[in-house]
Amino acid sequence: MKRLFILNLLFLFIISSPFELLAQSKKEIKKRDQAIQMAIDSAYVKYKDLKEGANADYIPALAEVPSELFGIAVVTPDGKMFEIGDTDYRFSIQSLSKVFTMAHIIEEQGPAVIEQKVGVNPTGQVFNSIYPIEQHQGKGINPFVNPGAIATTSLVEGDNYDEIFNNILKTQEAFAGSSLSVDEVIYESEAATNQRNQAIAMLLNSWGRIYADPLETTDIYTRQCAVSVHTKDLAVMAGTLANGGKNPVTGEVVISPETTSFVLPMMTVAGLYDNAGFWLYYVGIPAKSGVGGGIIAVVPGKFGVAAFSPRLDKAGNSVRAQYAIYDIIKRMEINPYLVEPK
Ligand code: GLU
Repeated sequence: MKRLFILNLLFLFIISSPFELLAQSKKEIKKRDQAIQMAIDSAYVKYKDLKEGANADYIPALAEVPSELFGIAVVTPDGKMFEIGDTDYRFSIQSLSKVFTMAHIIEEQGPAVIEQKVGVNPTGQVFNSIYPIEQHQGKGINPFVNPGAIATTSLVEGDNYDEIFNNILKTQEAFAGSSLSVDEVIYESEAATNQRNQAIAMLLNSWGRIYADPLETTDIYTRQCAVSVHTKDLAVMAGTLANGGKNPVTGEVVISPETTSFVLPMMTVAGLYDNAGFWLYYVGIPAKSGVGGGIIAVVPGKFGVAAFSPRLDKAGNSVRAQYAIYDIIKRMEINPYLVEPK
């Protein structure tokens, strides 16, 4: 009788524990979901009236984007999307594209190619500075400042302009899990005024650090920056990076976990240009900005977040997007450097 009772107990334990675990994790997921939604709602309310900064205007079409737009979206590794504000408004991806072209090269050609042919050190200079090129004979750069990004684009394989551009676009689309296209107005506007980037490419070429035709590469780079995305696309792209390179919405393996592990450190040291140290000091997680007003940030294994608002600080980073992401990360008590002593 006693044996039977013990057996029964054992049986009950075996059949009930997975269910209990499931119920428990369901509860935890619900708690997490509520915490994320509350964090983005509160960041939105807190910063929606902030007017600091100004639209980028060195690309004339960017000055025309309504400055009041503000959107935030989060995507988790289980494919859930949380959003608030103008998350459907399309704007140009700009420098955020640099992350995905770099990821493409590492995935196709390995991490050493980026380290040896482009560089991986922060410049401490504005994103379109020529100083680091000259100081280190074309070597003191990384894929997230314009010189390094143009060099990275020159490494993309393809027999002609269209093939190269399509390889770049296909990677962006796989990260976003949706089809994307170029905003031709933005492209034309930047192509007509990108003499500085052309000069950068020629200068790099003089040091043997461009691996295709410099001016054609600059044009392909300009086109990759003019791809139109909304905040939700960017959140899925960030969510893919948070999920080891597997798109959490489509399930596609876009890049390997190893490739992802080389992309995130680069975002950490150079994602916010000459403000990257400040960002790391206060926020501590990998992020990347674009002069279109978008910023993505990644909490590996937990979520990807995207925020968009066109007004930028002097370094070229969206003011509201920075504050919003800072706020979300603090509210969710994420700090990779904070450890409770044992
Ligand atoms: N297309 C822009 C440029 O080359 C990208 C810069 C950015 O977003 O920081 O200047």
